[in-house]
Amino acid sequence: MAQLYFYYSAMNAGKSTALLQSSWNYQERGMRTLIYTAEIDDRFGAGSVTSRIGLSAPASLYNDNTCLDQEIAAQHHAQPIHCVLVDECQFLTKEQVRQLSDVVDKLDIPVLCYGLRTDFRGELFGGSQYLLAWADKLVELKTICHCGRKASMVLRLDSTGKPFSEGEQVVIGGNERYISVCRKHYKQAIEEGSLQAIHGFHHQEASE
Ligand SMILES: [Zn+2]
Repeated sequence: MAQLYFYYSAMNAGKSTALLQSSWNYQERGMRTLIYTAEIDDRFGAGSVTSRIGLSAPASLYNDNTCLDQEIAAQHHAQPIHCVLVDECQFLTKEQVRQLSDVVDKLDIPVLCYGLRTDFRGELFGGSQYLLAWADKLVELKTICHCGRKASMVLRLDSTGKPFSEGEQVVIGGNERYISVCRKHYKQAIEEGSLQAIHGFHHQEASE
């Protein structure tokens, strides 16, 4: 029985690496996979999923208007697909999450979605909200804060490195504009308007 999976995390937890590894595992056994990523994410050029450790694979792009169930069904009927993998799944619409659940239930193809749970304000992304509600399996990919606690929050930094918690939800950046921290240090950084708490910890750690 196929299932719908949601692999979620803060930034920089190796989501794309995990996705590419899963896809490879299928292909190694002679199975065909279909990879999607959000059209909005053009960090590494359109039409591919690239991990920070240098792995890469071609991907189909989706935007708000993509009918994922129709596209996947057409591909599947042309040549059987054994697994669908979706990167940046936080950008899926509610309707698209429903479509992916149909891919699982009607076509019996497992769908593995990888993405962020919350934005830099601590709010759920739309796609993540419905994946949390409807996925069969929820799997947290863990990354750690500077202090060693689990990083569950994403801090957004402005051009001067000052954290802020207001503004547009959809901005994709690399390491320089977002960092993953624990809830305690997220609050502290927002309250103080700086990364002093985190840098202070570094300093303390270094001097011990
Ligand atoms: Zn921390």
